Amino acid sequence: MATIGFIGLGNMGAPMAANLIKAGHIVTGYDLVPAALEALTKAGGKTAASAAEAAKGATIVITMLPEGRHVRDVWLNQGGLIEAVTAAKPLLIDCSTIDVDSARAVTAAAEAAGLAMLDAPVSGGTIGAHNATLTFMAGGSAEAFAAAKPVLQAMGKNIVHCGGPGSGQAVKICNNMMAAINIVGVSEGFLLARKLGLDPRILYDVCSTATASSWALNTYCPEPGPAPAAPSNRDYAPGFMTKLMVKDVRLSQAAAAASGVPTPLAAAALALYEQAMDAGYADKDFSAVFRWLEGQKRG
Ligand code: NAD
Repeated sequence: MATIGFIGLGNMGAPMAANLIKAGHIVTGYDLVPAALEALTKAGGKTAASAAEAAKGATIVITMLPEGRHVRDVWLNQGGLIEAVTAAKPLLIDCSTIDVDSARAVTAAAEAAGLAMLDAPVSGGTIGAHNATLTFMAGGSAEAFAAAKPVLQAMGKNIVHCGGPGSGQAVKICNNMMAAINIVGVSEGFLLARKLGLDPRILYDVCSTATASSWALNTYCPEPGPAPAAPSNRDYAPGFMTKLMVKDVRLSQAAAAASGVPTPLAAAALALYEQAMDAGYADKDFSAVFRWLEGQKRG
């Protein structure tokens, strides 16, 4: 069993850390929010007063933070994680979804200090985090991936080595770009069905086994009711916040612009999520774009 330092115990980090504890690992966690630390204690973990303290004595250090700037801050700052763990040489894993440049910058700093690091963002949402069924998309060396795999298996089902540093993040932004488009598509279908007088449950029963079948429809249905575990049934409590989805689709659009790839549907979806965010849905689950669309008039 591994001794693990876990930094970032939010909507995803908290259940991921709890699953590591359930699998028998020793977890010491750190978060800026005191309630997150209390939740880790309840789950059987230990808490620390800083990221560096959480990483002390760990053989594996995991971060699950909101954005690239938080990840750079925690790992690269003076007195940051890389400096703190250089002597002990644990394996480093960042599971946050961030820009490829930040992922490569942190990995380069780790490697310069003689440390192995993986970018290993996840897919599957908070439902997957609770059920330990996440997909991990890992970028880094084959050796680092082999060492990380048994620990990642305590939190996920599909653990995939995508290539060198940053390639996990590259797969992740493509995934989220597709998921963002899919949720808008399902929302439009359910809103049209309502106006056509259809029962949403019948629409769900047919379409979830027909050609519209998708994770966005079957598991995460934005119309409350048909998919019991979906955030739509909890007044769109996240889940995955709209502001984080906006961050990820923006990352995909920056990458698409840099590589000259046309992504017109992602651009249109991004504009909708941005408007929903500005209309007060920033901290709601991104499937609340359904609620925002519901309030719009056809132009
Ligand atoms: P969140 O905001 O709920 O959690 C992030 C946590 O990091 C918060 O508790 C915050 O207090 C903590 N934090 C921020 N700065 C810190 C610092 N300097 N030191 C210690 N703790 C710090 O976000 P989340 O939904 O858990 O998402 C985390 C990452 O996972 C994001 O990059 C997101 O894009 C990605 N992700 C989220 C989901 C989802 O469904 N929520 C799914 C896949 C990937």
